[in-house]
Amino acid sequence: MKITIVYDNEVKKEGLKADWGFSALIENEKASPILFDTGANGPILLHNMKELNIDPKNIGIIVISHAHWDHTGGLSEILKQNETAELYIPSSFHISIPGRKVTMVKEAIQICQDVCSTGELGGVEQSLALKTGKGIFVVTGCSHPGVGNILKTASKFGKLYGIAGGFHGFRDFKALDELSLIYPCHCTQYKREIRELFKDKALECGAGLVIQL
Ligand SMILES: [Zn+2]
Ligand SMILES: [Zn+2]
Repeated sequence: MKITIVYDNEVKKEGLKADWGFSALIENEKASPILFDTGANGPILLHNMKELNIDPKNIGIIVISHAHWDHTGGLSEILKQNETAELYIPSSFHISIPGRKVTMVKEAIQICQDVCSTGELGGVEQSLALKTGKGIFVVTGCSHPGVGNILKTASKFGKLYGIAGGFHGFRDFKALDELSLIYPCHCTQYKREIRELFKDKALECGAGLVIQL
C-alpha cells in the first residue's frame, strides 16, 4: 500500500504548491488508485498531480471525507479530467453527479480490497481504514467526529498501526499511544505538541510525502 499526499497546508517536495486543504492518493496492487479528498482548488490539485506524475484518468475511485470546501474544491475539476471514477461520499454531502456510480455512505462499508470506510461518523465525516501488512492505517480529512472516535471505529477492522490526515483541534493525545506511525497533517492545530510528545513516531506531513506500508 502506498499513500501519496497530493494536497496539504505544507509542502514536502520541491515544485509542489502548499494550500489550505487535503488530498491523498492511495495505491494498492489489488485495486485501482483511490483519490481521497480533492483539496480546495482544482488548478492547484492538478498542478500537484502533474508534478507527482499522477494521471487523473487513472483514478478509479474518489472518496470525499466530508462536505467542507477544503476537501471538495477540486472535485469538479477532477470529474472533468476523469469520466469513469466511481464516488463514495458521506450522505451529509448533498451533491448530484449524473452519469456516475455514487455510493452515499452512512454505515461502515468496504470500498475495495483492503480499503474500508469507517462510515459517516457524527453525521458529518468518513475516514478510510487501510488494511496493510503492518495493521490498520487510517486516513482522515479533518477528523471533525474526533480522532479518538475515528480510531475506535477503525479498530473494528483490525489492530491499529497508524494515521495520517487533519486532526483539527484534537488534543486528547493519549488516544495516539497505541499507534506506531502518526502524520498530523492539514488543519491539525497541535502539530508541534504531537511531534514533541511522540518524537520517534510522529512525522512531518506535506504535499509530496509518500508513505509506504
Ligand atoms: Zn472540515
Ligand atoms: Zn479541512
